Amino acid sequence: MSLTISIANQKGGVGKTTTAINLASSLSDLGKKILLIDLDYQANATTCMGINRGSFEKSVFDLFTREASFDEVRLKTKNELIDVLPARTLVQGIEEKIILDSNRDYILHSMLANIKDDYDYILIDCPPSLGYITTNALMASDGVMVPVQCEFLAMDGLTQLLNTVRLVQTKKKLNHETLTIFGVLLTMLDARVNSGYQVVNEIKTYFNEKVFHTIIPRNITCSNATFYGVPVTVFSPKSKSSIGYKKLAKEVIRRHEQG
Ligand code: ADP
Ligand code: MG
Repeated sequence: MSLTISIANQKGGVGKTTTAINLASSLSDLGKKILLIDLDYQANATTCMGINRGSFEKSVFDLFTREASFDEVRLKTKNELIDVLPARTLVQGIEEKIILDSNRDYILHSMLANIKDDYDYILIDCPPSLGYITTNALMASDGVMVPVQCEFLAMDGLTQLLNTVRLVQTKKKLNHETLTIFGVLLTMLDARVNSGYQVVNEIKTYFNEKVFHTIIPRNITCSNATFYGVPVTVFSPKSKSSIGYKKLAKEVIRRHEQG
């Protein structure tokens, strides 16, 4: 059974995009077929999958405004197990257009219904906001993964995110569907800084078993990989962050299989 996961946290810079691309890459190393959906105007996930910004006509936002079909937007990548729905920068007024759509919360949901089973995992890289785009991602997902940076004020904003998740859960229930908190991922832990471990404890106390055992360490190789436009698991497979994401992929599969 295919699983759709939104990677969401309205805070920027917590590791959403890094998690999306490296989890996609690590799951594909384990033979899984992946669709990676980039819903951020910064289009970083798109570039990091080796897709040149000028090389495609239609972006995922044309799906939202119904100006393109799924097949027109879907792109193949260098990795034959990963397809991408790319994002475009400089999209204006997208949310305003979505508001006018009578089916506004379900646009992505309906698009994915037909193709879900072509993939083992669909990973959605959410924008740093809780507007209609993120709501669409959550409505279309079976679970949400929340990256939390191991730094000061890590818990900030999580209540708002959880409120949005609850609203979506209520709506999905009407269709006999569910949205689980698939997991909370601690990211960018600096082993030399005590406050990082305080955040780890705080998050574990709050979210208990929802927290993934894998913690992604802060590792300069990871940000360098972003610069070269590749997942760190490809750029430097033996780096600490790569090892972290490979462990995470196994944990994701285990959680999925245990239901
Ligand atoms: P978001 O998508 O939540 O805004 P990003 O994934 O873009 O966050 O990460 C923010 C920045 O932190 C990026 O420059 C990225 O390269 C860097 N980064 C992410 N994870 C790590 C890590 N484990 N170690 C070091 N730098 C990281
Ligand atoms: Mg991002």
